[in-house]
Amino acid sequence: MRSISIFGATGSVGRQTAALIAHQGGAEAYRIAALTAQSDVAGLADMARQLRAEEAVIADPAHLADLRDALAGTDTRASAGPQALIDAAARGADWTMCAIVGVAGLAPTLASAQAGGTIALANKESMVCAGDLVKAAMAKAGGTLLPVDSEHSAIFQALAGHERPARIILTASGGPFRRWDRAAMAEVTVEQAVAHPNWSMGRKISIDSASMFNKGLEMLEAMTLFDLRADQVDVVVHPQSIVHSLVEFADGAQLAHLGPTDMAGPIGYALNWPARRALPLPRLDLAALGSLSFEPPDPDRFPALRLARQAMEAGGLMGAVLNGAKEKALDAFLDRRCGFLEMAELVEAALDALSHWAGETSLDVGLAGVTEADLAARRAVDQRLDETRTR
Ligand code: NAD
Ligand code: MG
Repeated sequence: MRSISIFGATGSVGRQTAALIAHQGGAEAYRIAALTAQSDVAGLADMARQLRAEEAVIADPAHLADLRDALAGTDTRASAGPQALIDAAARGADWTMCAIVGVAGLAPTLASAQAGGTIALANKESMVCAGDLVKAAMAKAGGTLLPVDSEHSAIFQALAGHERPARIILTASGGPFRRWDRAAMAEVTVEQAVAHPNWSMGRKISIDSASMFNKGLEMLEAMTLFDLRADQVDVVVHPQSIVHSLVEFADGAQLAHLGPTDMAGPIGYALNWPARRALPLPRLDLAALGSLSFEPPDPDRFPALRLARQAMEAGGLMGAVLNGAKEKALDAFLDRRCGFLEMAELVEAALDALSHWAGETSLDVGLAGVTEADLAARRAVDQRLDETRTR
């Protein structure tokens, strides 16, 4: 029986993964080694009961007693704290879903990579911040890395059986503000930014989609995952989110991946790879859709793409700097300490102030060095926020 762990099991991707596992036989078909969550004790305990998990880890240690209570009468072992998360990852599984949000997912993802097995990677931040480190760990342990981000899963699928691509083209929905002018975007509220037109996702990635920082992170993710140069990664806006991305070869041919706008597609592909099993998804009806449209992204209203390219061209640890600054700016937006468009200004200031981090890679500095770059970026954003406040 294949063993499975889900890191970030109570989130949007985590829950959809658990639902697919249940759909494909649950505890009868798989051995569930570990499920983890940040603080949702009830959600974690319910899932652990349903899937008869061997271990449930709550990252916030304040919730350990509650988790023990919630798991009373089961065989599931309860543990808590960041080290317990890493220990669970280091024990490994045949298949591990890495679906923690943010750079918080890096240490457990790296520990899973070091343990070997198949890694289904939703946590794009670990590729953005420390892709070389994670890939080297995977190569050493002999594991397989399967992307779960829909665009990267699409590219991975389109590349199967082909030689290296000349270029890849990531599709972007354009988010809820695709047609808004800058003045209106400056006034965007958290509630407006969370409401994605096509995809149902976690709160943070939804806001990142609205600002297109999500697409910026995905450009960095793609560059590292598929060993490309910065100039081989492009973005096209495609509001219907039916074409999930494209690859282009030397002869000019492009292969596109089409599918329903539902994460069960890429999650199911990774779960069943290399097989393709029937998934509980609606089938595409192109005649009913009628048309698909494409347009270039607007760099003035969505500076995130330009900033991502700046980080890609600079190389080194600038992905970690960009991501750390973006996470801090996003927290500031959620706390109403900055406006929607100010997030990009904060990130740009951090990239400019910390350009020296381009000189070293995650392989040179290891996890501790990546964490240092991440913290430096957060401090740079904090400092900038204080300056603009007192001005
Ligand atoms: P989410 O916010 O819905 O869930 C995040 C999960 O991580 C939860 O289980 C939460 O408890 C856990 N978590 C949060 N902070 C943590 C911390 N500090 N330590 C330990 N655990 C923590 O997020 P999501 O939308 O499911 O996204 C997860 C990852 O997948 C992100 O990297 C996101 O970019 C990527 N992704 C998501 C989607 C989607 O459809 N939601 C699509 C593509 C990629
Ligand atoms: Mg995506």
